[in-house]
Amino acid sequence: MRALALALVCLLATPALASSTGHAPAKKTGTHAKAAAHEGPVHWSYAGAGSPENWAQLDEANRLCASGRQQSPIDIRTAYALALDPLQFDYQTSKLHVLNNGHTIQHNVDPGSWLQIGGDRYQLLQFHFHTPSEEAVGGKRYPMVAHLVHKNEAGQLAVVAVFLTQGTQTHPLIRQLWARLPESHPVAMSFEDQSYNPSSLLPRDRSYWTLMGSLTTPPCSEGVRWLILKTPVSISKAQLALFRKHFSMNARPLQPLFERAILDSQ
Ligand SMILES: [Zn+2]
Repeated sequence: MRALALALVCLLATPALASSTGHAPAKKTGTHAKAAAHEGPVHWSYAGAGSPENWAQLDEANRLCASGRQQSPIDIRTAYALALDPLQFDYQTSKLHVLNNGHTIQHNVDPGSWLQIGGDRYQLLQFHFHTPSEEAVGGKRYPMVAHLVHKNEAGQLAVVAVFLTQGTQTHPLIRQLWARLPESHPVAMSFEDQSYNPSSLLPRDRSYWTLMGSLTTPPCSEGVRWLILKTPVSISKAQLALFRKHFSMNARPLQPLFERAILDSQ
């Protein structure tokens, strides 16, 4: 059951896993399929026996959660300004696929949406949410963050983080997505009659901080290129409350920076 348990992790890391959840042919409108139930004595979580300080002990495969020196998330305090390549988003319309994996709400995206950074090209696989934001800026965490997970041909991940803050307006894309949340988990649903463009989740200003980091969930694999947008996007108080009804807290504690430098695109 190990492979099935791994299929439930927050950041899908392998093509096989991505295709098993993210790029399967769309199902009929409103139908849902049950994913595998997880097994084992203690499953990772954000509180209790499976909480972050115990992740490395839960499974040998998770050892980097404790011993890694490029772990995420981090607090952004000092960053070095540099002329960095702009983030060029070429996102296409996707049907709505939603997965409640017990750790977050995840939206798998149809193939064809790309992120270009200089000569590097990554395909958008999925995005999901954390509350509060996992990354902090000057010690402060935002109410939420969206992580948009991309992968290049070599299998390397690039994650774009978009902070979500509480404002007065309802966010139209969030309204469309979260009107169709699976109440229980693990449950995946696809809606043939619902389509959207994930670019609606991005702020207009694409300036960013960047550093190398890790998955923020077990197995905490490193070599992940993090691109943290500086400009937050607003969602309403009711939208924030709706997510927190499902997940009251799903953020990993801040990790030491060690010898890494954070770069600032300005
Ligand atoms: Zn995440």
